[in-house]
Amino acid sequence: MLEKKNLELLRARLDTPCKIVITTHHKPDGDAMGSTLGLYHFLKSFGHDVVVITPTDYPSFLHWLPGNDLVVDFEKLPTVSIKHVNEADFIFCLDFNALSRINELGEHVAQAKGLKIKIDHHLLPDGFEDINYSNIKASSTCELIYDFILELGSSDHITPDVANCLYVGIMTDTGSFKFDCTTPHTHEVVANLIRKGANSYQIYDQLFNQHQFRRLQFVGFCLSNRFHYLPEYNTAYIAITAQDLKDFGISTGDTEGLESYPLTVKGIRLGALIIDRTKLVKLSLRSKGDIAVNEICRDYFNGGGHKNASGGSSTKTLDETVQDFLAILPKIKHLLNS
Ligand code: 5GP
Ligand code: MN
Repeated sequence: MLEKKNLELLRARLDTPCKIVITTHHKPDGDAMGSTLGLYHFLKSFGHDVVVITPTDYPSFLHWLPGNDLVVDFEKLPTVSIKHVNEADFIFCLDFNALSRINELGEHVAQAKGLKIKIDHHLLPDGFEDINYSNIKASSTCELIYDFILELGSSDHITPDVANCLYVGIMTDTGSFKFDCTTPHTHEVVANLIRKGANSYQIYDQLFNQHQFRRLQFVGFCLSNRFHYLPEYNTAYIAITAQDLKDFGISTGDTEGLESYPLTVKGIRLGALIIDRTKLVKLSLRSKGDIAVNEICRDYFNGGGHKNASGGSSTKTLDETVQDFLAILPKIKHLLNS
């Protein structure tokens, strides 16, 4: 909930057209892009001058989102991005809670004069913002944007574009409404988004049914040749080399979804997807129940996220990173087997 004074301040200042920047974490996912573009269309409907800036590019399966062509990529246009950040009256920071998550853009956001509003659902915030609108129990940042719009009393500004964008992030962050974070409120929100014009069938089709055939062959290859099953630790992981990515012509978004396979095996409580991205080895950890992968990512892999879904990275080789991951298992065996 927004504090009364913040609600009044936002209502008053958003009443007259102003300059707004919306940003989100690097390598944005469905929730990051759905929330930024959903808020973009919402704020544009009041006549504000709004710019979405991403710290990096993002996967092509999100490029159909309305407003995609207007997104400014900081890596491609740093000068333009910095100018917008410096001139903004408001900077909305969505789906992240530490400025390190937006790379060098973070230094500029930290120094900017604009009022910083954070809307997020991750654990362990670092408190860089002026106004905080966070809830770690929310399924997604998109769900929070919907709540935020309702608190502002502006549900009549939820256009079909806003509704479609917000639906995307709720769908992707809940694993199409499968994960534990899916609440009755989540379903109420998506029901209202459909009433406002979100097309759930088309969104699903755009997100999940647009793969290249080689991507499916790659999934088959990984499941047959890169999948490791450790029943004594109720753990399974997939480790992918840089050469594998090259051999199959795989780009960032093509590996999305592979992280959920380990947990589909009966009895598995901890799953990992470990990918050699050349400059860094990236880890995606998933768990069931009380195994807090955000703590594992924070303690061992310079990362974080949610209790059952987190990410991190390592500057070591793929083999060394896998060994580091395996070395953690005996330490948490009691949790894995309980
Ligand atoms: P994924 O495994 O899909 O990359 O990320 C899962 C969750 O962990 C997401 O909520 C994401 O924001 C978070 N996450 C992923 N990588 C990092 C990281 O390097 N640092 C932090 N703090 N969070 C991460
Ligand atoms: Mn999210």
